[in-house]
Amino acid sequence: MDANGPQGKLANGHADAASGRLQIINDEKKFTPELTAQLEKWGLRDAGFGYNIVAVFGSQSTGKSTLLNRLFGTTFDVMDETRRQQTTKGIWMCRGRDMNIMVMDVEGTDGRERGEDQDFERKSALFSLASSEVLIINLWEHQVGLYQGANMALLKTVFEVNLGLFGKNTAGGRTLLLFVIRDHIGQTPLANLQATLTADLMRIWESLSKPPELSDRQLSDYFDLSFTALPHKILAADKFESEVLNLRKRFTEKESSEYLFKPVYHKRIPADGVAFYMENIWEQVQSNKDLDLPTQQELLAQFRCDEISTVALAEFNEQAKSQKRPVEAGRVVEGLGELMSNWRTDALTRYDRDASRYHQGVYKRKRADLVAALDAVLTPLFLGQLKNLHKTCLVAFKKEMLDGLRGEGYNFADVVSKARVKCLGRFETAAKEALIDGPDWTWQDELVSLQEEVRSVADQCRKDETKKMVNQIERTFKKQISEPVELALNKAAPDMWDDILRTFAQTLAKAEASYLTKATSFDCTDEENSTSLAVLRRRAWQALREKVDEQTAEPVMLAKLRGHFEERFRYDATGVPRVWKPEDDIDGAFKVAKDQTLDLIPLYSKIQPADSTLEYTLPADSIAITTDANEEFDFASTLVIFTETKGLELTQKFRREADAYYVEAKRSTVASIAQ
Ligand code: GDP
Ligand code: MG
Repeated sequence: MDANGPQGKLANGHADAASGRLQIINDEKKFTPELTAQLEKWGLRDAGFGYNIVAVFGSQSTGKSTLLNRLFGTTFDVMDETRRQQTTKGIWMCRGRDMNIMVMDVEGTDGRERGEDQDFERKSALFSLASSEVLIINLWEHQVGLYQGANMALLKTVFEVNLGLFGKNTAGGRTLLLFVIRDHIGQTPLANLQATLTADLMRIWESLSKPPELSDRQLSDYFDLSFTALPHKILAADKFESEVLNLRKRFTEKESSEYLFKPVYHKRIPADGVAFYMENIWEQVQSNKDLDLPTQQELLAQFRCDEISTVALAEFNEQAKSQKRPVEAGRVVEGLGELMSNWRTDALTRYDRDASRYHQGVYKRKRADLVAALDAVLTPLFLGQLKNLHKTCLVAFKKEMLDGLRGEGYNFADVVSKARVKCLGRFETAAKEALIDGPDWTWQDELVSLQEEVRSVADQCRKDETKKMVNQIERTFKKQISEPVELALNKAAPDMWDDILRTFAQTLAKAEASYLTKATSFDCTDEENSTSLAVLRRRAWQALREKVDEQTAEPVMLAKLRGHFEERFRYDATGVPRVWKPEDDIDGAFKVAKDQTLDLIPLYSKIQPADSTLEYTLPADSIAITTDANEEFDFASTLVIFTETKGLELTQKFRREADAYYVEAKRSTVASIAQ
């Protein structure tokens, strides 16, 4: 096989016609444009799904190429003992001899010592993992259990990136990881080696940083594991050859229960699409930013930037803690914005000073993480401050408004608007103070909510004040109608209701005018004004009725009737008390006076003006007002002062009193005759 010469002598990406090899990815990380043509030459292009892909992975000089050549009859370069230095890198492909198998051999220097080489090593490992059905992981027996070994570290990265890149696509099929343990002496049984490797893999899987949506995926969701061992190639040459043959059968004998190319591993790409498919995978592996595997420089930067960030954050947290309790207790912390801004700037300055010397990409990424952590602490403080500010401003607003409404002669609208401007101004100033450069905070929403509450408090207050004013006007109204109503009811003239209703209408008009004048300072809505006026009218009417009731209560009524009667019976037309003489027509005079007086009862019994144009009807909206009693208000019944029965009762009582006067008059004449 060494007769094929060193691969380095071949032009990159060119098929070696003699051996049938193709370098599909060269040491400049370019994918060959000739894979399709080569597949054609190999006679695989029209194989449809009837082909398999296998690749190998493992440290340098562990006999990978040797193994592939033995297993598949391929012609990969094997390291020449006389020239130990291998300089070429790349992925080579051969067709298995008499097999529809594409075999990939990954070459490269071990990147452990030289940071920049890791990139190629990892990318090519990832590429083979993503594109083949079976990935042979080749390792010496003595490498087993070296969890920290290069192979395992590499596997961790490859798994991680594979998961990030192809992990969501569970339909993409599974891959078999075939561990081939080389130079197996036999002292440790394969089962033990297998257990150790499995445990290592599980540990690797656990330690992967998985994308959140794939956090509960298991290794077994993506990979099957298989293990085999080979004896020492030189010390046990015969056994080595026979074991290799056994292993070869597992790749070729489809009927065997140990057949390795199970259909589930097939990527279901028709052979004529394989070149395009592989090129695509390589492109994804190459171009995906997430895949930029960290160099030593970056690893160092990650470590140091994390450390620096942790220190800065700890100091910051200590500072922030001091204001956490007051804010949570509802206090508005004076100058909180400046404090927060200082803590934040301090932390970032400290971070920048120490971390900016490291790898810029890492430094910036970790800085963004730090900023997020800082703001996660500051945001609740800011929001708490706003909430507390909102509360205290509202309380101050209420107090200021009530203070302004104390005493007389205030203009309600002025008082409210002054208090509002002061309250919102205070909020805005303090909110702006709390706002700091950097985080994406706003206080405008809180201001809107405060504005709404201020409005609703002012509204409530206005309603209370309006009510107070209506009460005041009602009291004045009562005072104003009291005397005229009393006078009119005492006069008992046929048009007494005309006088009363006229007075009522005039006084009510004055009351309404007084309401409207005062209401202008309250900024009441038209609707509120008409409601207040309706209340005022209803109360005025009720006040009138109360006054009338007071003046027509039974004893008052009887006194009125008595007075009326006496004036006519006991006094003459000129107001001089009568002295009855025997020739006087006492009976006649008594009858006239009594009848005239009894005529008054129907006059008092109902509010009914002589002039029908003076009749009053309470407006519908005043009638509709519900009071605490919640009784239906029947306006018509309020016009009735007393019922017919009550009238008869009054008549009866009055008659008895009048009869007494008659008897007294009669007696007085008898007495004068007797003298
Ligand atoms: P690769 O770099 O992993 O592809 O390794 P090669 O196949 O080029 O082999 C490197 C060296 O190891 C060569 O000198 C081989 O002869 C030797 N070699 C191959 N297979 C074995 C083996 O199973 N055991 C031992 N001890 N040496 C081997
Ligand atoms: Mg090799």
